[in-house]
Amino acid sequence: MLMPSSHRVMQRLRTLAKIGAEANGGITRLAFTRQDEQARALVQTWMEEAGLQVHTDSVGNLCGRTTTTHGQQAVVMSGSHIDSVRHAGYLDGTLGVLAAIEVADAMNHSKHKWQRPLEVVAFAMEESSRFQCYAFGSKAMAGIPQADTLLGNCDDQGITLAAALCNVHHQKNDNETQQLQQARQHIQAAIRPQNSIHAFVELHIEQGPVLAAENIGIGLVTAIAAPIRLNITIHGMQNHSGTTPMHLRSDALTAAAALILTVESLCANSLDVRGTVATISNEPNIINAIPGMVQLGIDLRSGNSTERNSIHQVLGQHIKRMAEQRHVRIKQQVITQDEPVTMSPALLNNMEALANNSNIRHRRLASGAGHDAASISRIATHCGMIFIASKDGISHHPKESSNETDIAQGIELLHATLTALRLRDILHHVND
Ligand SMILES: [Zn+2]
Repeated sequence: MLMPSSHRVMQRLRTLAKIGAEANGGITRLAFTRQDEQARALVQTWMEEAGLQVHTDSVGNLCGRTTTTHGQQAVVMSGSHIDSVRHAGYLDGTLGVLAAIEVADAMNHSKHKWQRPLEVVAFAMEESSRFQCYAFGSKAMAGIPQADTLLGNCDDQGITLAAALCNVHHQKNDNETQQLQQARQHIQAAIRPQNSIHAFVELHIEQGPVLAAENIGIGLVTAIAAPIRLNITIHGMQNHSGTTPMHLRSDALTAAAALILTVESLCANSLDVRGTVATISNEPNIINAIPGMVQLGIDLRSGNSTERNSIHQVLGQHIKRMAEQRHVRIKQQVITQDEPVTMSPALLNNMEALANNSNIRHRRLASGAGHDAASISRIATHCGMIFIASKDGISHHPKESSNETDIAQGIELLHATLTALRLRDILHHVND
């Protein structure tokens, strides 16, 4: 049996890294730019060499599919994205696409009688760097409604997403209304039906420090985290800092300080929840006045919504007590409350068994960052992710890197997983 070659994946990663390469060693390959187009053309030739029939869907997802007919129609899908943030590294997204192509090539040369077709996808515009919205291509494929204003989002050249999307179809149109209409039609046309994807498996670098800290190469993702975001306004009493005795103050900033530390300690005592007080504004912010009003922006994030919501509730109780003790009024506004996405437990168990079979050291973990897999999980029957340890936990940075041995094990596990998924309903055997 031909095994996928991590060596060739590494070579191709280096070749792809030249497109959009910068003098400082970083890569900038923003979605729907000339560089992105050039990278997609190259990836298309690699897909074709792996025996896949390639087409670009109406929103720019590059899809390569096996051509032979199979017993089952629903595809086994794998892939990620090849667009990047500004000054990016060379692994984020691209590794998952090139690994899937490598596995497709090995499968193309195998004697197995496949029951299911395979599709490799490079999703369009996963990164939000150009148009301030992320996972656009995979959300469109999954039929997830995206904000209506989104198509009007401009890049720093004043080009709208609608125009960029029409450009994929070589549609030149100066009439903005017509352009919007065309763009909406493209988004509609990209939707795949429920359960047309039997399983989606995305390989991706961890982009965080958890695996590296434990010296484990491979992570099996349990869930993709989602945030609750809060806007907190603390009203105190602005007053003279020289004349007001300490016990007669109502200081909004000291109340904010206590609240910030409370968020930290609540989350420090939780395994799954990350809490960040990320923004602060203080009024009047002058040296001789007691602060009268403070606003805080809080991000509570977890793959476990029960635990996240319970920390949010406990935080609410602290806020009430703190307001009484410190003689301030505290108002809380929930800006977003997204639901985390759970990966398929049956697929996770299967992947764990396959990793054990191959002596691949691994651990389960939740993803703190968003991924295309979160979108595709809405339409795929089963969804899973394989993480590769990131050196020093660094990502979205030219220094982003991973060990080649970890990458090789990740590709081996992807191969074993996709093989099992294409051959049989293994999921029925280990269903818990
Ligand atoms: Zn990514």
